[in-house]
Parts: sequence; C-alpha cells; structure tokens
Amino acid sequence: MLTLTFLGVGSAFAKRHFQSNVLIEAWSKSPAEQECPDDTLLIDFGTTGPLALHVLKDRPGFGYLNADGVVNYPAIHRVLVTHMHGDHIGGLEELAFMNMFVCRGRNDAKPYKPQLISTTSILVDLWDQALKAGLSALPGRYALLQDYFFILALRPPDPEHGGFRMLKRYDFQLFATDHISIQHKYDWPSYGVSITDRATGESVFYSGDTRFDFPAYSRMLQESQMNFHEVQLTEQPNPVHALLSELRTMPTDIKRKTWLYHYSDDWDSGAYDFVKQEFAGFAAQHERYVLFE
Ligand SMILES: [Zn+2]
Repeated sequence: MLTLTFLGVGSAFAKRHFQSNVLIEAWSKSPAEQECPDDTLLIDFGTTGPLALHVLKDRPGFGYLNADGVVNYPAIHRVLVTHMHGDHIGGLEELAFMNMFVCRGRNDAKPYKPQLISTTSILVDLWDQALKAGLSALPGRYALLQDYFFILALRPPDPEHGGFRMLKRYDFQLFATDHISIQHKYDWPSYGVSITDRATGESVFYSGDTRFDFPAYSRMLQESQMNFHEVQLTEQPNPVHALLSELRTMPTDIKRKTWLYHYSDDWDSGAYDFVKQEFAGFAAQHERYVLFE
C-alpha cells in the first residue's frame, strides 16, 4: 500500500494551513497491521514543514514520528525536492541538524543520513544558494551536503534515470513543470511527480508548483486514477501558479478525480463552494489518502 498525507495544503503565504509538502508512506501490509511504514518520503519540506511534522506526530496513526515529544526525524528516510522556493526547502536545515545532533540513538554515535533526491542542477543550487549558508559550518571543520544526506541525482525525462522506486513496486517519475520562466519555458528547474504502481499499472499525478499547462500533462491527468493539482484561488495576470478559473476548463471527468491543494486562507469563505461539486475537493491536511491498496 502507498499513502499520501499532506503536512500542509496552503500556499507559500497561507497562515491557516501549513505549506504544501507531503509525506508518502510505503507499507508492505496496511497501516492497521503495522505501526510504522517500511519506507517514507517527503515531497518537499518548506519553512513550515518542521512545525507541521510536530503537529502530525501527535495524530492517531503517526506515533512513529514521535520520539519523546520531538519529531523523530530518522523516521523520514528520503526527501524529494521539486524546486528551490522556501516553502519547499526551508525546513531542510532543521531536518539535517536534527538528524546530525539531536536524533542519534543513545549508543549510536553515527548521525542518521536520509536520502536527498532531486535533479543534479537543483541539488547543486540547493547547496550553493541555500543550505550551505547554515549547514557548511561544523565545530572544527567545513561540511558538505553529503555529510547530511545520501544524494540521489535524477536526470528526467530519461525514464531510466528520471525517477526512483519505493518497495520495488512504486515508481516515482519526475516531469518538468512550467512554474517560473526566466526567459523561456523550463529554464528555471521545477518538477511534478507521476507515481505508478507496477503491480496494477495504476498511477497518481502530483503537479508540484506549476502554471496551468494542460497540454503538457493532460495525458497523465487522464490516465491517473487520482490527481493532486496545485491551485491559486485569486485571479492574477501572468501567474506562476494554476488559477482556479483555468483548472475549471478541464474536462469534467478529470476534474472529478482531481484534489486541489496549495490554496489561500480564504478557501472556505463561500466563494469557492463549487469546488467540492466540480472537483474531488480541496485536499485536507493530516489525512492519509490511499494512493494504491
Ligand atoms: Zn514555487
């Protein structure tokens, strides 16, 4: 079984909900039959990520994330970074330091190193432009990214090297998204994720941050049994996110299986009540969605 739980469902600037990062859990049995999953993956870990995990660890069924009242960071085996905005990477310094200094087992002097997954260019920039500022200095020496993480560099869209697998069964394939164009499409790297269950051929679409770009990913939306698409509720010229008005132009059958996430704090003001009729609905945070049985 593969499950997805939003740490948060808000936009970068939302305050009622945490930012849109997700916890993927891979289970050889079901959550009812085993206390903790066999493998875990965060898709992004932004500035509100640590607080979101701190809250989630006290929810029923997530006790394995709780180590005597603090987040049990070694329970997070992997982190996938879709792009470099703070609401996607801002929690990584805490995750790295917690694993290095706080979460070590009592008799185990070795820090826990999760796997860090992204494309080569994002990984290089992630260190040089962001994480190096806080993580490069350790008592008595300079540190590198690989002091904190085992690194997996992907090369999408190459199907051989553009993804990874959980439990030898669930394929994660990255695809480029049109989030920010500096001069031309795709020149600032950002990615979404297509997840396929090799046992059944079923798939799930997770947009990551993107402008509405239906021609680029309509086939994935059509073929997936469940879609998660980011949304911006308010209109804006030249948006860098998918406007709700644009998402409403999708075919009815696609909308009905599409959950919207990355929304602003006014989502339940009444103005957007049609979303639960037209789409699968607004995604809820801290609720386990079963992607594949
Ligand atoms: Zn972004």
